[in-house]
Amino acid sequence: MDEKKKGTISRRDFLRGSMIGAAAAISVAAVPSVSEAYPKAPHDPRKWSWEAPAKPISKSDIKKTVNTDVLVIGAGLSGIVAALSAAECGASVQVVDKNATWAARGGHITAFGSKVQKKMGIENDHRQIIRDWIAWAQGRVEESLLWEFGRKSGACMDWTVDIAAKHGLEVAMWDGYYKGPDYTEYPVTHFFYKKGGNAAYVNGVATEAGNIVLVPALESEAKSKGVVFNYKTPAVRILKDASGKASGVIAGRAGKYTQFNAKSVIIATGDYASNLEMRECFAPFTLLADAQIYFPNKCNTGDGLVMAMQAGGAMQRHDPHAAVIHLEAGAGSYGFLHVNALGERFKNEDVNTQSKSCTKELEPGGIAWTVYDKYGIDQVKQQLDAGLAGGLFYGQTFQKWGSGFDVEMEKSIQQQHIKDGKILVADSIEELARKMNVPADKFKATIARYNELYKMQDDPDYGKRKELLTPIGTPPFYAGKLISTILTMCGGLRTDTSLQVLTEQGEPIKNLYVVGSAQGEFFANDYPTICPGIGHGRCITFGRMAGILAAGEDPDVLIPSIKI
Ligand SMILES: Cc1cc2nc3c(=O)[nH]c(=O)nc-3n(C[C@H](O)[C@H](O)[C@H](O)COP(=O)(O)OP(=O)(O)OC[C@H]3O[C@@H](n4cnc5c(N)ncnc54)[C@H](O)[C@@H]3O)c2cc1C
Repeated sequence: MDEKKKGTISRRDFLRGSMIGAAAAISVAAVPSVSEAYPKAPHDPRKWSWEAPAKPISKSDIKKTVNTDVLVIGAGLSGIVAALSAAECGASVQVVDKNATWAARGGHITAFGSKVQKKMGIENDHRQIIRDWIAWAQGRVEESLLWEFGRKSGACMDWTVDIAAKHGLEVAMWDGYYKGPDYTEYPVTHFFYKKGGNAAYVNGVATEAGNIVLVPALESEAKSKGVVFNYKTPAVRILKDASGKASGVIAGRAGKYTQFNAKSVIIATGDYASNLEMRECFAPFTLLADAQIYFPNKCNTGDGLVMAMQAGGAMQRHDPHAAVIHLEAGAGSYGFLHVNALGERFKNEDVNTQSKSCTKELEPGGIAWTVYDKYGIDQVKQQLDAGLAGGLFYGQTFQKWGSGFDVEMEKSIQQQHIKDGKILVADSIEELARKMNVPADKFKATIARYNELYKMQDDPDYGKRKELLTPIGTPPFYAGKLISTILTMCGGLRTDTSLQVLTEQGEPIKNLYVVGSAQGEFFANDYPTICPGIGHGRCITFGRMAGILAAGEDPDVLIPSIKI
């Protein structure tokens, strides 16, 4: 079937059609309603709030008009990169953001073939990485976006490094990635830090490394190029002209709106993890998570997605959408013995943080712990330094290339988590069982079996690699709680390498671009931890491309591509 024609039936119409068909075919037996059978079904036939037409805005409520070449909605990493890139091309640029200042968090950034990688002799098979990434998504992505990222991300990283250097920042490669055989991560992860700064990262917060230092540097550079930042100015409507092209945005407080007339509009409003209705629709499994974290708190409500859909744009075609869902704090994703609330082992602990976050939810009460003894943190160091383990929330978030795992820093982080109750500590297994509220006999038997596996150097129960089996025998004993935490939703608006928002029919809405987490088609099912920092990586690469496109220039001319 012609690709365009495939898109002519909307996802919603298709679902409604199949519901009608099902109802007609089944007339005798009492069938449970969809909501009874699948309480969180993504194909729930209810009408979602964003399907309702947008409420009209009266002209009298618009108090001011601003004309600009490019209007960017959102001052996160992707929006600021887009704004700066457009300004470098000579465009006048306005940014609106609903918060009081820019947004940043984390700090891992994927790029392929950057100058820093070349300088350090880090080589990757980029084609293989992209093939793995497509396999991770079971092929349900717009592949051209991935290959474009592969070709241009290195040059976009080099551009970022040069700007960051002007603002006193240095770049490093991350060495804590998983080097084991099963969830192999690639050495593609960059991060920025203040020269001589403290790289500790606790509960999602660092002060002198990561995007908390990079994003303000980029904002400052953008201001120096004439970009105007309008904070505390929420965008509420995307405007289109009579020909259907994007023509601006209405933003500000109700009754005191500003109309920004623009030749191009870039949606950079981030994801929708703080919008539970959207999560229920597009990724219902995420509602099982224990916690959610974002900075600025709860700003990621999917506003740009709603505005774009109201302007005729479509969401990506495949669900469930991927989620960045990590084990935050307490347990990290340490691969020690994992036990559930019954005191029983239930899995091979040598899997990535995404997998653990989801599978531990299947255990009774969704409760699980990682259990180790006095030597646990030293064993982490040995495993990491030997290249046996690692990965997101296992290795240190800002462990520099070749620096080795900082065991003292890890122990101080452990002490903090003991204080805040995320890690329990006890002098005996019985006491630890009591604190964990698990049956002591069962727990002791589980530990005895695990120690037996260690002695055998074999795990016939769950197939864990023998190098990762460690004994649990020397007090104090620790239990870190596995806390599955939603960071970011990774589904968004349908697009292609033009970076314009597409309609259900696959037609671009001219001059309406989408970047960062609001952009769809890049991930499906699960966030591919094979490239730690791919979320930020795409913010920079596609942010830069969209800024150039929105300014009327050609990214193929301005961004060098590598052959992959
Ligand atoms: C704790 C944590 C750590 C993370 N670490 C990493 C990491 O190391 N590597 C990685 O790749 N990813 C990481 N992520 C995910 C990553 O931060 C995001 O995917 C990415 O930064 C999104 O950038 P963005 O520019 O698309 O959106 P955001 O950074 O969310 O910026 C969107 C901006 O749009 C504004 N906005 C929203 N709605 C409106 C509106 N209506 N009007 C005006 N403005 C609006 C918001 O206020 C916000 O400033 C992490 C996430 C979390 C929560």
